[in-house]
Amino acid sequence: MTTPQAPTPDELAALRRRYRRERERRVRPDGPRQFLGAEAEFGFYAADPYVGEPAGREPLRDTVDVAVVGAGFGGILAGARLRRQGVRRVRVIDKGGDFGGTWYWNRYPGIHCDVESHVYLPMLDETGYVPEWKYSPGEEIRQHAVRIAQKFDLGADALFSTTVTALTWEEDSRTWIVATDRGDAFRATYVITATGTMTEPKLPGIPGIQDFEGHTFHTSRWDYAYTGGGPDGGLTGLADRRVGVVGTGATGVQVIPMLAEDAGHVFVFQRTPSTVDVRANRRTTAGDVGADREGWARARRENFLRIVSGEDHDEDLVADGWTSSAGLLEKLLPSFRRPGDREAFEAAYEAADAAKMNEVRARVEQEVADPATAEVLKPWYRYACKRPTFSDTYYPAFNRSNVTLVDTADTHGIERVTEHGVVVGGTAYALDCLIFATGFSVGVSGVHSGRLPVRGRGGTLLLEAWARHGVRTLHGFTSNGFPNLIQMGSLQNASSVNFTHILDEQAVHAAALVAAAEAGGVLVEPSREAEDAWIAVLAEGAPDHERFHAECTPGYYNREGRGRPGGPTAYPHG
Ligand code: NDP
Repeated sequence: MTTPQAPTPDELAALRRRYRRERERRVRPDGPRQFLGAEAEFGFYAADPYVGEPAGREPLRDTVDVAVVGAGFGGILAGARLRRQGVRRVRVIDKGGDFGGTWYWNRYPGIHCDVESHVYLPMLDETGYVPEWKYSPGEEIRQHAVRIAQKFDLGADALFSTTVTALTWEEDSRTWIVATDRGDAFRATYVITATGTMTEPKLPGIPGIQDFEGHTFHTSRWDYAYTGGGPDGGLTGLADRRVGVVGTGATGVQVIPMLAEDAGHVFVFQRTPSTVDVRANRRTTAGDVGADREGWARARRENFLRIVSGEDHDEDLVADGWTSSAGLLEKLLPSFRRPGDREAFEAAYEAADAAKMNEVRARVEQEVADPATAEVLKPWYRYACKRPTFSDTYYPAFNRSNVTLVDTADTHGIERVTEHGVVVGGTAYALDCLIFATGFSVGVSGVHSGRLPVRGRGGTLLLEAWARHGVRTLHGFTSNGFPNLIQMGSLQNASSVNFTHILDEQAVHAAALVAAAEAGGVLVEPSREAEDAWIAVLAEGAPDHERFHAECTPGYYNREGRGRPGGPTAYPHG
C-alpha cells in the first residue's frame, strides 16, 4: 500500500471539522454512567464458564509469607520473582479456576495478542520457551502463564475460585489478615496486589437489555457449549443462527471474522469504528528471533520498549504496526520521552497522525467492496483517541453476504433491546444470540474498585485515605500507613503498550522489597516525605494531554468524552 502524502493545511482544517462532527454524533450526556456492571441480575454475564461449582474446602486459618492477590501475569511473575529471592510460602489467590488472568477469562474465537509474542510473553529466557507465532493465539499465552506457575511451583498453595474480600493489617502480629468469600481468614506477612486493570466485564445500559429471550453472553465468558467449536473456530452451533455483536473494539475486531465464517448471519452493531491496521501474523522459528543467543528475549523486549517509549534506538527488532506508529503513541503513554520544542512537535504530530489515519481509511476502501459499508467503517478521529487494532480478516468479513454492518452512531448505540432482538433507527433486527464485545470497566479492579477494602494501621481504609489526601505512593508500590502492602499496576508507576514487561519489572522490584525487608527485619513502608518526593517527581514534566483527549471521540481513554484526568498519575520520564 502506498502511504498517502502529508495533508495540506486546508486538508488538516477539514479533517479537524470532520473529527469534531463525528465526536458530536457520539458524545452522550450520561458518559461513563451509560454502562452496567455484570452483577446482580446481570451477574450471569461474569460467571466462570470454565469450571463447575467449586469443590468445598475447609476455610484456611494458617500463615504464609506472601499473599499474592491475582493469578494473572502480574501475580504469577510476582510469585516467580519471590521464589527467585528464596521466599517459601507464597499463596496466589484468584477468582478464576486457574492461572492466566486475562488469558484465563478471554477465550473467544480468534483471540490473539496483538503485541508481538516474543516481547509479550514474559520469562522466555528463563523458561526456554520460544513462541510459535509472531502474534500468539490466546491459548498459547494461557499455557505459558501456567508454564511459569508450574516452573516456580506456585500451584500447590494457590487458591482458585476464591475472591479476596478484605485485607486488614493487624498491628500486634505485624501481619495482614486475608479474608475471602470461601470463609478463609489466613495471615500473610506481606501482601502483593496484582488485580489487573480490565477485569470486570461491562454491558451497555441499553433499555430493555434484560428482556432479551435469546441466548446472550459477554466475549470474556464465551459460551462454547452454545456456539460449538473453540478459539480456532468451528462454531457449528451457530450455523443457522442470527447472531448480533455489539462492540467493534480490539475484541470485536478479532471475534467478528470468526463469527462471519460460521454463523448463519452476523449483524455487527457498530458505534465507533476502530482503526484496523495490517497484522501480518505468521509462524516464527527460533532462528527468526535469534533465540539461540543468551538473553535474546530481554534484549528484544527492551528494544521494543525503547521504540514505543520514544527513546533513541539503533534498530527495530519487532518491526510491526506498533513500532512503525510509535511516534503517534505520545498522547497515550505518560512515560513517552517528550521532545523539547512542543510547538514544532505538535504540528509534525498532527500531520503524521492525519497521514496515518488517511492510510487506514484508504485500506478500508481497498478492502471493502461496498462503498456505503466502507464509508461506515472509516474511523474519523486521531490515532491515539482509541486503542489501535490490527487484523487482515476484519475488513474482508464485510464482503460476505452473511454479514450486515449496522451503524448505531446517530442513536448513540443500540436504541432498545426487545425479547426477540434489537432496534436501531426504528428498524428491528430479530436475533437468536446477542454477544457483547463491550469491554471492561477500566481501572476499577481489585483494590481500586472499592469492593476489596484494605485497612491499614488504625483501621484506615486505603481508598478513604486517598480520597482525603489524593493518591499517595512511593513508586506506585507502597503507601504510608499500609505496611508490607505492595501494589502492582499502572498507578503512579511506569507504563507501556507491552504491559507484561512493566509487570515483570514490577515483580522483580516487589520481590526485592520483600527480600530486603526480611533481611533487615523491617517493614516495607514509605515515609510521608518519601511519598511527597515521589509525587513531585511525577508532577514535574507530567504531560498535559487533557485538551487532546477532551477533543477525542468518546471511549474509555477519555472517560467517554469527558477528557483524561490530568495530574501526576504515572511516571513521565521515559
Ligand atoms: P472496548 O472497550 O475497547 O470496546 C467496546 C466496544 O463496545 C466499542 O466498540 C464500543 O463502541 C462498543 N459499545 C459500547 N457500548 C455500546 C452501545 N451501547 N452500542 C454499541 N456499541 C457499544 O473493549 P474490548 O474488549 O474490545 O477491548 C478492551 C481492551 O482489551 C482493549 O482496549 C485492549 O487494551 C485489550 N485487548 C487487547 C487485545 C490484544 O490483542 N492485546 C485484544 C482484545 C482486547 P464505542 O467505541 O463507540 O464506545
